[in-house]
Amino acid sequence: MALIVHKYGGTSMGSTERIRNVAKRVAKWARAGHQMVVVPSAMSGETNRLLGLAKELAPASANDSYHRELDALAATGEQASSALLAIALQSEGMEAVSYAGWQVTIKTNSAYTKARIESIDDKRVRADLDAGKVVIITGFQGVDGEGHVTTLGRGGSDTSAVAVAAALKAHECLIYTDVDGVYTTDPRVVPEARRLHTVSFEEMLEMASMGSKVLQIRSVEFAGKYKVPLRVLSSFTPWDINIDEEAKSGTLISFEEDEQMEQAIVSGIAFNRDEAKISILGVPDTPGIAYQILGAVAEANIEVDVIIQNVSKDGKTDFSFTVHRNDYARAIELLKTAVLPKLGAQEITGDAKICKVSIVGIGMRSHVGIAAKMFRCLSEEGINIQMISTSEIKTSVVIDEKYMELAVRALHKAFELEQPTAA
Ligand code: ASP
Ligand code: MG
Repeated sequence: MALIVHKYGGTSMGSTERIRNVAKRVAKWARAGHQMVVVPSAMSGETNRLLGLAKELAPASANDSYHRELDALAATGEQASSALLAIALQSEGMEAVSYAGWQVTIKTNSAYTKARIESIDDKRVRADLDAGKVVIITGFQGVDGEGHVTTLGRGGSDTSAVAVAAALKAHECLIYTDVDGVYTTDPRVVPEARRLHTVSFEEMLEMASMGSKVLQIRSVEFAGKYKVPLRVLSSFTPWDINIDEEAKSGTLISFEEDEQMEQAIVSGIAFNRDEAKISILGVPDTPGIAYQILGAVAEANIEVDVIIQNVSKDGKTDFSFTVHRNDYARAIELLKTAVLPKLGAQEITGDAKICKVSIVGIGMRSHVGIAAKMFRCLSEEGINIQMISTSEIKTSVVIDEKYMELAVRALHKAFELEQPTAA
């Protein structure tokens, strides 16, 4: 017998028929002897519908009292789906109870629409579990110190589930979703992409941040911090499939790097076309330059990713970095008006038609020549590399956006990711 947390995404909760299926699946797990906690998302489309209603009444506004109401509003989506799931479980003959975040309590800070969980009180939930009940806890929300309802940001139910699992020291947190696991890359780009049986938490973090949208990134950070074993699996299998088979399906995000890990050096290819490149040419090479440029950018709340400063020649250097494409125009404008005149730099250029492609794998730590293999593969395809950045377990290149799919396919092949490795 183990304490298990299940999380169901919006699609899995999308209709009463699907909610009944979720209830049947959860009942199966409970009848197998597990203590069950379930964290559902709102029914698919519901959060958008609610926020859309608010927009009809008032344009988006930065003010806190408006954001408070957005959270009070959006949080109802999960309250409805949670209560519906409890009703469905009861009709399956199970004892079940649903709680909103504030009833648990899931305590957060007061940052409406992007609140962070601070603590979870497990007393009430444990008492119900000990009494043999299935406990359903709303995803996506909590309550701040003053009793205001808060939400965790879009996709936040993943984080709720992981946080609940951490607080209850659950044996495993199973994230049921509309994909059946984490793949070597996006199967829409590379049809031969393969589902990974296991992936390390660090690799998952790199892949999640690169836009493989399987899990909200914060949930992966949380899982890493509290060592919550996480599994991503399909909610579209028949609810009555064999439970042992189900428990091994999908992708396990694991912390035991050695024995359990597949032996591949590179585990996946991630890519991201949301970036844009900015270069400032002829910057005087004196102390404080990087700070003057990037400090101004940071102050405008613009996140910077890859950064390159060249070797200087005649006391001048070139400075390039990437930002989110949505911030591109604003960053250029800011640099032109506020930074360049002060720097005495000669020129600013930019390119919004770039993308970033990365190879990710913990095996890269202990193997040399992996980056070189990546560069050779790209050169054989005639793809020019504009920027390079590396971390212990990742090498990223910035290239022309029009070569993105070609690069991903070629790299997937070069690293033989379509071949199953010993699991
Ligand atoms: N319902 C929320 C959303 O649509 C949270 C979630 O589903 O994770 O973003
Ligand atoms: Mg989601």
